[in-house]
Amino acid sequence: MKRYSAFAIAREAVRYHTGWERAWRAPEPKKKYDAIIIGAGGHGLATAYYLGKNFGITNVAILEKGWLGGGNTGRNTTIIRSNYLQDPSAALYEKSRSLYETMSQDLNYNVMFSPRGVIMLAQTHHEVRGYQRTAHANALQGVQTEWIGPQKVKELCSIINLDGPRYPVLGGLWQARGGTARHDAVAWGYARACSDMGMDVIQQCEVTAIRRDGGKVVGVDTTKGAIDCDKLGIVVAGHSGDLAAKAGFRLPLESVALQALVSEPIKPAMDVVIMANTVHGYLSQSDKGEMVIGGGTDGYNNYTQRGSFHHVEETVRALNETFPMLSRLKMLRQWGGIVDVTGDRSPILSKTPVDGVFINCGWGTGGFKAIPGSGWAMAELMAKGHSPLTDEFGMERFIEGRFIDESVAAGVAH
Ligand SMILES: Cc1cc2nc3c(=O)[nH]c(=O)nc-3n(C[C@H](O)[C@H](O)[C@H](O)COP(=O)(O)OP(=O)(O)OC[C@H]3O[C@@H](n4cnc5c(N)ncnc54)[C@H](O)[C@@H]3O)c2cc1C
Repeated sequence: MKRYSAFAIAREAVRYHTGWERAWRAPEPKKKYDAIIIGAGGHGLATAYYLGKNFGITNVAILEKGWLGGGNTGRNTTIIRSNYLQDPSAALYEKSRSLYETMSQDLNYNVMFSPRGVIMLAQTHHEVRGYQRTAHANALQGVQTEWIGPQKVKELCSIINLDGPRYPVLGGLWQARGGTARHDAVAWGYARACSDMGMDVIQQCEVTAIRRDGGKVVGVDTTKGAIDCDKLGIVVAGHSGDLAAKAGFRLPLESVALQALVSEPIKPAMDVVIMANTVHGYLSQSDKGEMVIGGGTDGYNNYTQRGSFHHVEETVRALNETFPMLSRLKMLRQWGGIVDVTGDRSPILSKTPVDGVFINCGWGTGGFKAIPGSGWAMAELMAKGHSPLTDEFGMERFIEGRFIDESVAAGVAH
């Protein structure tokens, strides 16, 4: 494919933009692939990309039942950070954050990575202790974070009210190299790069069955016919339980809707990302000027990809205490995505009881930030049968009681 560049934009401008190619091909499925990835969200596409880039495996199809990036990847609030508590998590999320820094150059696609900094507010003494502990853990892990006091929080975010009626701001965990990226662009950039390597990204192609022979995967049935494969990666977030059942095993996770909303656009008001976990909400401002607002998960399991009024009310009411100026804004859009939540709030990157089937799921409310690192690690797992980044994240940890507890870092937060 032709490279995107300033020169290409100038060339197309003079010929009225008639020369752009399609960003990715729209092929029909072949009879057989070396590897099939189910799910063209960020994690599935990144897995395919690193299979090709790092291991030269390019006879790959990525099958998507809807449109690529139309799942949680295109529905999240785009927060990127790596300030987790446990060592295996910090390694994985920090690998991911560092890959985001060069993603636009690697993919030759502008993903608008904006390392504007993320503050996780402490609004109770318990949170102060928790985040100071995380800052110490991060120092040992080589992840750059810092505990900051309330005045520094105010310096970084002038619209904040430090003396909220219920929860004053007592400080925060600051990660200066955290930030945001454009979520669709991440999916599109990977899809274009995969297509360029000769992989088939096949949309409107739902996997309806997983065929096995003697305990080994041999292919899948889809709405576009049967396709054979040697290896299969299941990377479908909220639908992981459903796909695992098709492969004949169960997963220790639950699917719930997570919701978000945006306000009408306003002039630049804040240039950091703020997460306020006590009052239960998080906030950043998009390049268009909309305040991007996220809240909690629904209190019951469901597969409903839509927002609900009570969430808007609860989340905005909570954030109003800390950001009073929000009360003057009209809310513009709301939506939901189905996230896959494990008991220890850590992901599963694992071999499965079916030979040749690998699973990548359980990212819950916080997997956007993990897309490149997860794809990198999952590709290594699928290619070599082992990856140092996935060792601790096998599904057998739930049988062995070897949990990676990230409920503080990832319970609501992103
Ligand atoms: C409202 C909201 C806010 C969030 N905010 C953040 C945030 O700020 N920061 C952060 O790090 N994370 C956040 N997340 C979480 C993050 O979005 C997800 O963890 C991440 O996008 C998961 O990516 P994925 O590729 O695994 O899944 P998805 O993007 O959901 O992709 C899975 C794909 O599989 C497809 N699929 C399912 N079943 C089949 C089938 N049978 N056949 C073929 N295809 C199938 C689906 O159509 C879907 O496109 C948020 C999520 C939501 C919903």
